[in-house]
Amino acid sequence: MSLDLKLASFEGLDDEPRKKCPNCERTCKFYCPHCFTIVNEINKIPQLTLPLKTYIVHHPKEKVSKSTAIHAKVLAPESVEIIEFPLGLDALVENSENDQAFDLNSTLLLFPSEESKPISEVDWGKIKNVVFIDSTWLQTRRILRDPRIKNLPKIQINAHKTRFWRHQKVSDYCLATIEAIYFFFKEFVAHKNNGKYEGQVDNLLFFFEYTFQLIQKKYKREKRPFKHIKGYIKNDDNDDEVKENQKEKEKEKEKEKPNEKKSETNESTNEQTNNKEIEKKIEQTKKKKKLN
Ligand SMILES: [Zn+2]
Repeated sequence: MSLDLKLASFEGLDDEPRKKCPNCERTCKFYCPHCFTIVNEINKIPQLTLPLKTYIVHHPKEKVSKSTAIHAKVLAPESVEIIEFPLGLDALVENSENDQAFDLNSTLLLFPSEESKPISEVDWGKIKNVVFIDSTWLQTRRILRDPRIKNLPKIQINAHKTRFWRHQKVSDYCLATIEAIYFFFKEFVAHKNNGKYEGQVDNLLFFFEYTFQLIQKKYKREKRPFKHIKGYIKNDDNDDEVKENQKEKEKEKEKEKPNEKKSETNESTNEQTNNKEIEKKIEQTKKKKKLN
């Protein structure tokens, strides 16, 4: 399940106390989700610049303290704008010259649909902005109906399985907002560099990965299952949860084979991890051959 991320060090983060936000005086861990200010020592938190201006339309019903979209703003403050729906869109229109929130020629919306183009088919020449939606499924439909959003040309990224600890069970492929932002920029950077990606935007997952690992460690240590999502805790040891999972997955496999997507869910055994690694190496060799 590892993504092989090039991340800034997590050293010292576990011991960081909660601190008061200098703006709003709320006590928070690492950053204030309301003001987007880092409350820790800045050198522990990486800072990035993204290759496109990034707008995140945030539905107010989605709690900011639980939103992973805020990670993007905290980690790439110069590149990211959080737009509250709908008032933030009103403000964009008011401040624009042509009464549009976004310029339709230079802005794309990341949203999977029949009309969404894959990254490889987009003419990126004029594109300066990319818009993401941060809300639950139901609220997303409302945002998509908004005239200022609805006419934006849409793009989509390759499918990835989410690793979000709060995911909504709509689908395993329904990503947390920061995962969607990360995978978009990863694909975008690779597309711009003839398929080469060298971890340039990995730190977008800094807080996400930190929390993911924290949950994994905590539940492994306490040897208890993560009730919200079955099989979420990836154990190397043959403890009960892993065994239970294996059984479940073998049953699933029996029912539906062969199916490529299913094989991705079988990641808790070492054997399958090894197989995946071998596959990855074959892929890499193929790619190298192509490049040469
Ligand atoms: Zn604050």
